[in-house]
Amino acid sequence: MIKSETANELALQKDRQYLWHNITPYSESAPPMIVESGQGSWVTDLNGQRYLDGMSGLWCVNVGYGRKELAEAAYHQLLQLPYFPLTQSHLPAIQLAEKLNEWLEGDYVIFFSNSGSEANEAAFKMVRQYYQQIGQHYRHKFISRYRGYHGNSFGALSATGQAQRKYKYEPLAGGFLHVAPPDSYRRPAGQSVEAFNLQCAQAIEDMIIWEGAETIGAVIMEPTITGGGVIVPHRVYTDKVQEICRKYGVLLIIDEVICGFGRSGQKFGHHNFGIKPDIVTIAKGLTSGYLPLSATAVRKDIYEAFKDSSDEYSHFRHVNTFGGNPAACALALRNLQLMEDEQLVERSRVLGQRLHNELSQLLEHPLVGDVRSFGLMSGVELVADKDTRQPASLDIVKSVIAGCKRRGLIIGKNGDTVAGFNNVLTFAPPLSSTDDDLDFLISTFKHVMSEH
Ligand code: PLP
Repeated sequence: MIKSETANELALQKDRQYLWHNITPYSESAPPMIVESGQGSWVTDLNGQRYLDGMSGLWCVNVGYGRKELAEAAYHQLLQLPYFPLTQSHLPAIQLAEKLNEWLEGDYVIFFSNSGSEANEAAFKMVRQYYQQIGQHYRHKFISRYRGYHGNSFGALSATGQAQRKYKYEPLAGGFLHVAPPDSYRRPAGQSVEAFNLQCAQAIEDMIIWEGAETIGAVIMEPTITGGGVIVPHRVYTDKVQEICRKYGVLLIIDEVICGFGRSGQKFGHHNFGIKPDIVTIAKGLTSGYLPLSATAVRKDIYEAFKDSSDEYSHFRHVNTFGGNPAACALALRNLQLMEDEQLVERSRVLGQRLHNELSQLLEHPLVGDVRSFGLMSGVELVADKDTRQPASLDIVKSVIAGCKRRGLIIGKNGDTVAGFNNVLTFAPPLSSTDDDLDFLISTFKHVMSEH
């Protein structure tokens, strides 16, 4: 132990000297955990301390850590063909595109990139170009929801509805508009969940009308807002949004970056609602985070509009050097196979139901205002006052997370979302978690809550 503690200290010194971390502010007193290995739902740090990863990394390690099959799939592909650009083609990309169609239950053409942000950027460019090419030249605007996150790049961050992620980077890209999300917990007193959800969908139609329908290209939304606080819509909302999009010729982009690949208890989040998106963006669980890979799946007839050989600018002039890397595609194929063999989509549903039931018992706790779940993903909204629903302070939220960590459990929270509303604890363990893993997660969290 002493040896590894020394190794950790040395690594921390170098970390402080050389590494700039994602989103986490620099802190002398709370240094990063240096993770060395992972197996199943558990990771081990350089001190030899084990933690159950209740967030699957950043909501992505769907099949759990340490899967030899995935490493081998990448290894063999790297030996056979490590790289070739998708300006031409290779078999792993072709096979994966076909497999994704099967999972998506639609007729889509697949454009590969490396990250969720890039998948969304590609979608925005496709929408704008598509409407130019079919002669609807004014359609350039996008509507998304406050609290939703769509990525870190200028377009994807513009679509993001989280003010705290944008401060000091604005002005961002033009043409991105936002409406309120269907946050049923904070609906007006006396209003039914259905009526509230319909009202939220109506806000999209109102915006389309105010802006001029002929200027709106697409609505982009997650099936359930995930990192923004696990905000699950009622089915009437998604049905109505689709109906509005169709009524005004507005494309519907569904961002499945987190909800996809079984997380929601279905193959894709939108399968829970029966909507048929025009474009689907996917990343994270596609490779269970083992290698970078993302995709923009586009309805076949939209793709057809990019084939006009009489116009030298009709093709999609977007290149991504690493997008669709052969090893990443081969690994993704193996990942999907593994999910099928182990029935992890069904497992997500079963574990998710149990997690939701157990967490709901905490609704009696004075700090717990709401418990929301979507498959194997839950959000526990902490409040200072149950009557007014005033959000709990960040100090309390952090104290619960730290208490879990001291007992070997990693959970998350919505971070840098909307000032004063970073009060939702998040849970998204690997879909491959064992019953014992879930027992540990639930009992540890309940214990920590009992101390608050
Ligand atoms: N869309 C959603 C819903 C996300 O949660 C994320 C990342 O967390 C992204 C897009 C961006 O993905 P990436 O971080 O891979 O660029």
